[in-house]
Amino acid sequence: MSSHYDVLGVSPEATGEEIKKAYRKLARKLHPDVNPGAGAAEEFKAVTHAYEVLSDPQKRRVYDATGNENGTDNGFGGGYAGQGFAFQDIFDTFFGGGGGGMQGPASRMRRGQDALISVRIDLREAVFGVNKKLEVDTAVVCPTCEGSCCRPGTHPERCDICGGSGQVQRAVRSILGQVMTAAPCGSCEGFGSIIKDPCNECGGQGRIRSRRSLTVKVPGGVATGTRIQLSSQGEAGPAGGPPGDLYVEIRVNNDPTYVREGDDLHATLSVPMTAAALGTEMQLDTFDGPQEIDVKSGTQSGEVITLRGLGVTHLRGYGRGDLKVHLHVETPSKLDAAQEDLLRQLAKLRGEQFTEGKLVASGGMFAKLRDKLGNL
Ligand code: ZN
Repeated sequence: MSSHYDVLGVSPEATGEEIKKAYRKLARKLHPDVNPGAGAAEEFKAVTHAYEVLSDPQKRRVYDATGNENGTDNGFGGGYAGQGFAFQDIFDTFFGGGGGGMQGPASRMRRGQDALISVRIDLREAVFGVNKKLEVDTAVVCPTCEGSCCRPGTHPERCDICGGSGQVQRAVRSILGQVMTAAPCGSCEGFGSIIKDPCNECGGQGRIRSRRSLTVKVPGGVATGTRIQLSSQGEAGPAGGPPGDLYVEIRVNNDPTYVREGDDLHATLSVPMTAAALGTEMQLDTFDGPQEIDVKSGTQSGEVITLRGLGVTHLRGYGRGDLKVHLHVETPSKLDAAQEDLLRQLAKLRGEQFTEGKLVASGGMFAKLRDKLGNL
């Protein structure tokens, strides 16, 4: 069983201020808002309990003398539910608990805001996922005062105007006569204390702006608009408050070759007319490396060859979409005399009859159209 001093990481000779500082530091690290793990919650309770005992001079004297806070000699049996356990009070002191309403001074400490940055990735990176290094500019806890807002060695002083309550009573005239209401103390802005000697580095804010780089793991399957949430990587709160979250919004660059539709990729492959007629093998550079495309003899423009599993990784679930290759048969447009002559010979061999440069459509060429119109 470790002592309350061990839990807070301070020596038994530590001053009240040192104990407070140690607690602040640990609470910031272990607070459930910042650190959602179950282990952290238990540790947070333990350090809060240790602080509850050691921050009260009376309880600390008893603890120092007997080794427990109940004033008895039978070890550390008290547990966290021991008498006078003021968890909520301490919690509110440091985190500005919401339940209290108008009682007690306000806390300077608040949770920081969420931050949003966007990052551009290439389609290839969206297909497979990528670890992306980012530069982020957010508020961080001031390294000089560690969020206390005070110049090191100094601490907030109790406000004389409100006596530390953060509130003043004010008489207000109403149609019901004069009533007393509580209003935030104008001298300390409701905090109950005044920082007379603010930290130089942060100007008494307890946080400074800082640029840092971090690496975000972008999973395969993200699309433009996908947001990745990074817990506690947002803005540090005022006065050492826990940080907000960082959202990274994805923008996917257009790719010169591939168009994405859902998790399928589409590409167009141009096939020379002769190759489409005779059949051939063509090579296509895909994100998975070169692939052989089997162009069958008699291929028509617009035919689609599907390469299964070479599309975008599914963001949810397993596997990948398909890669669809749209074949486009290229008709030669600039023919020299020899080529034209060859094509005319081919047409003649195939029984395609030209009259004064016009092709006379044979019955066979109309057959399909007639079938379609036959019922009209
Ligand atoms: Zn500071």
